[in-house]
Amino acid sequence: MDDFKVTPWDVEGVVDYAKLIEEFGTSPLTDGLIEKTAELTKSELPIYFRRRFFFSHRDYDKVLADYESGKGFFLYTGRGPSGPMHIGHIIPFFATKWLQEKFGVNLYIQITDDEKFLFKDKLTFDDTKRWAYDNILDIIAVGFDPDKTFIFQDSEFTKIYEMAIPIAKKINYSMAKAVFGFTEQSKIGMIFYPAIQAAPTFFEKKRCLIPAAIDQDPYWRLQRDFAESLGYYKTAAIHSKFVPGLMGLEGKMSASKPETAVYLTDDPEEAGKKIWKYALTGGRATAKEQREKGGEPEKCVVFKWFEIFFEEDDKKLMERYHACKNGELLCGQCKRELIERVQEFLKEHQKKRKEAEKKVEKFKYTGEL
Ligand code: SF4
Repeated sequence: MDDFKVTPWDVEGVVDYAKLIEEFGTSPLTDGLIEKTAELTKSELPIYFRRRFFFSHRDYDKVLADYESGKGFFLYTGRGPSGPMHIGHIIPFFATKWLQEKFGVNLYIQITDDEKFLFKDKLTFDDTKRWAYDNILDIIAVGFDPDKTFIFQDSEFTKIYEMAIPIAKKINYSMAKAVFGFTEQSKIGMIFYPAIQAAPTFFEKKRCLIPAAIDQDPYWRLQRDFAESLGYYKTAAIHSKFVPGLMGLEGKMSASKPETAVYLTDDPEEAGKKIWKYALTGGRATAKEQREKGGEPEKCVVFKWFEIFFEEDDKKLMERYHACKNGELLCGQCKRELIERVQEFLKEHQKKRKEAEKKVEKFKYTGEL
């Protein structure tokens, strides 16, 4: 019995990612694939790939082969708008932006306001539509190419329904139940929803690559069962790990536990206070003990945040690791340095978010390229 659980709606416990690869039947993102990506893009890879924040894939090797042969591919990812976005939500979008820029491909971003309404009892449809607009601003602020990026919200982009119909005819209840664990109490909208989420993988007659956190993989597993029978490619995916919340390395940053997350709209001062108060460290009980024994960066959320997003420089990251281990660096200083980085990031992001208000229409996908 695992002591962790990963589904599209729930992540609990300390995730064993190697075990998850086995359970989900995906493949590890190997050095060979990373090197091939660097070779094809003629670029140094960003930390998300170098440090294996993206760690697993399905058919990414075929995506690279299609690119190399000139067939090309396209990108698809999404966001379920159930509340404000936090740092954990936005990191995969930065990785997606890198892929788009370097490969020069189209990107479709699905905003699943229908899904969030169906799956979250407390949210009204108006709530999820409001959050959709709010989240779209954060996504645009990442800096995607407006000529190659197409954002659509399921409730507005009604063409998606037409595309979902042939898909819905391919999925029977037992297939969906086996993947998602639906029960007698599941709403019929929830049972139909996987057909809607699969539809964008057919937007182009090329292979689709989905960069997303691994908890979304069950949707793509299902798509791969029927895609070829409809004349399309099985979708490819690269999977990220989860960004831990401030209070521990278990699970992922959760929007339903506000003290564990730094939201993209948080006032930078308040975000700093949150990190100072709640971020779990691998520090010892006293400064004296820490100087003697050193800290434990492996158990530390502060270190994890540097590693995932807030320290670009590999050499500096290793210096921090060793300074912690040797007891030269104490947690107060280390937290202050993280707070500075987070605040800089938030200020910059919020400026771009404001500018995004004028760009929403430009990114809206109408079904025409
Ligand atoms: Fe974590 Fe930094 Fe403290 Fe080490 S010094 S345990 S890396 S906060």
